[in-house]
Amino acid sequence: MTSTTNPLLLGEGLPPYGHFTPEVIGAGMPELLQQLEAALACHEASLTTLEDPTWEQVMEPLHRIEERLRWAWGVVNHLMGVCDSEALRQVHSQQQPAVVCFYNRLGQSEPIYKALRQMRQRHREGMLPLDVVQQRILTAAVQAMELQGVGLEPEQRQAFNATSTRLAELSTTYSNHVLDATKGWSLLLKDPQQVDGLPESLRELMASAAREAGHAEATAAAGPWQLGLDLPRYGPFLRYSRQRDLREQAYRAYVSRASVGQTDNHPLIREILALRHGQAQRLGYNTWAQVSLVSKMAGSVEEIEQLVEELRRPSQTAADVELRQLGQLAKEMDAPEGEDLKPWDVAYWSEQLRRRRFDLDSEALRPWFPLEQVLEGLFGLCERLFDIRILSADGEAPTWHKDVRFFRVVDQGQNTPIAAFYLDPYARPGQKRGGAWMDECLVRQPNEEGRMVHPVAYLICNQTPPVNDTPSLMTFMDVQTLFHEFGHGLQHMLTTIDRPQAAGLNLVEDDAIELASQFMENWCYDQPTVMAMARHWQTGTPLPENEFRKISAARTFMAGTAMLRQLSFAQGDLELHARWKSDSEETPAATWRRIATTLAALPPIAEDATICSFEHLFAGGYAAGYYSYKWSEVLSADAFAAFEEVGLGNEAAIGALGKRYRDTVLSLGGSRHAGEVFRAFRGREPSTEALLRHSGLVDGAVH
Ligand SMILES: [Zn+2]
Repeated sequence: MTSTTNPLLLGEGLPPYGHFTPEVIGAGMPELLQQLEAALACHEASLTTLEDPTWEQVMEPLHRIEERLRWAWGVVNHLMGVCDSEALRQVHSQQQPAVVCFYNRLGQSEPIYKALRQMRQRHREGMLPLDVVQQRILTAAVQAMELQGVGLEPEQRQAFNATSTRLAELSTTYSNHVLDATKGWSLLLKDPQQVDGLPESLRELMASAAREAGHAEATAAAGPWQLGLDLPRYGPFLRYSRQRDLREQAYRAYVSRASVGQTDNHPLIREILALRHGQAQRLGYNTWAQVSLVSKMAGSVEEIEQLVEELRRPSQTAADVELRQLGQLAKEMDAPEGEDLKPWDVAYWSEQLRRRRFDLDSEALRPWFPLEQVLEGLFGLCERLFDIRILSADGEAPTWHKDVRFFRVVDQGQNTPIAAFYLDPYARPGQKRGGAWMDECLVRQPNEEGRMVHPVAYLICNQTPPVNDTPSLMTFMDVQTLFHEFGHGLQHMLTTIDRPQAAGLNLVEDDAIELASQFMENWCYDQPTVMAMARHWQTGTPLPENEFRKISAARTFMAGTAMLRQLSFAQGDLELHARWKSDSEETPAATWRRIATTLAALPPIAEDATICSFEHLFAGGYAAGYYSYKWSEVLSADAFAAFEEVGLGNEAAIGALGKRYRDTVLSLGGSRHAGEVFRAFRGREPSTEALLRHSGLVDGAVH
């Protein structure tokens, strides 16, 4: 890097963290965008002069433009997630509109669209040889542009763009209504009896909410306590509150959010659905569900409904038994709801039953899961399954924080480095976004000299940092989360595809994207895998068997009820986006209620309007795609079942199967259709059997 080059303009290699100050970003992004604008204009001009454009002429310059922007804006977004500050936010929001604008211009470029279509045509005529990966990249590129309306006649395109803008506004308003309605309800509790049964942490949260609402005297011990509908307060309150009338009040308020008055989302839902339907028709599809299916593994709505139905039958049987057991327990405890269980009783009695059956205290298990040991266990598992070695390489790459670690991945057979990743494990309140995620830093691709660039991943978690001599001690959930993100990371890092547009997670269908991640989670329930890493950090004693059994039991607890709830959402989403039309007699809310009535464990109450606060469908990217969660879960459970079938202790067979998994799912990623990749690994179509069995739902058996 010369002193005059802004580091955001480097566009390749490991980013020189430590140099990306807000000032550097503020100066670098406009300069980069200016260069890219010029490069794009130049590319477009050259395309218009070509009679028979080739892959090299069209795709490679296009990729170089996209890659420079991905690299630079990726760095900025990454820093937003892990080193948030007021100054960074400011520069991000200053630069964002120009970046969005550039992406739109790229996505709607007519010369590029025309060149892509010409290539496709010439390929069909046998004049342009393309390998299967190239064909898939080309098809996806044409489709992505068409879904942005580029193929429409000018008049249609204007209507399409105007509708897109309107849809974006409606989503924002929908979301704001949910936020306002959630904030708009609260209940001040003054009597200690009203907080009976609530854990200390919840009382503390409710007291602090009361202080913010002007009750300066509020304390966790003496109150007052303010209840609200945000999940951190509402969720635990329903689970722990012994006051049935308060649970009922909160529940009724929660399920009717944004359904009346100033924040009523009913008219917005109707308009959103009608506009989506219109957009789909402009694009040449019958329904919005068909538009969604373009980027999915599922081939049709019917195929998804078949999966929902297969999962529904055993779940319903199990859910009925589960609810009876809750009622039974309530009766034994002389609670009136024993005879008449209502939706606001389910969480509370589940918690009571869970405690009675196996009192799994997730906090108490932490000493058995120090980060170093968990990493050792995880890396050991990957060595065993995928024939790779993971080596610590701290100091070999600049990082954004002193706690961030760097690792290299080596192929055991070849003994050569093939990938690398950063691990940023600890929570940093105020600086780092919550949750956990995997993101791509570098994608596998040949550089300008033709040398292959190794893929590099970011793995970000939010677990407790070490304190003094105590290492970072993880909950079982933290362990599972790390395995999950590492699974995404493996698919990014072990790709063998040379074309970056289809390497790693790129072009993996949305409903198959969680296959690689959830696959790894399954190993957290494999006793030898867990026992190999779970040793007390001070005494070295292994995790008591009994505790492992509780972990296993917790996995299937109330599984029927939980599964049914997800299926009801998935089916409701499909009904609305595949069948509902603005001239339908049934309102969207009535459609939603009809599905919930047939699919939920307990029928919805009269004022239930959960459709009015379902942001996944109306303010997020899951419209006609909510089923994807279950779809991926079926795939991952079935993939893991292949290992169960050969015997989890059968080293030779496990090694061979691990290699096959690496050579298919991890290596091919999105370079082939997800169904083809799955069949290449499993030798057959996916089956729901394993997911049902892992969930304890086989033959309606309830444990
Ligand atoms: Zn994931």
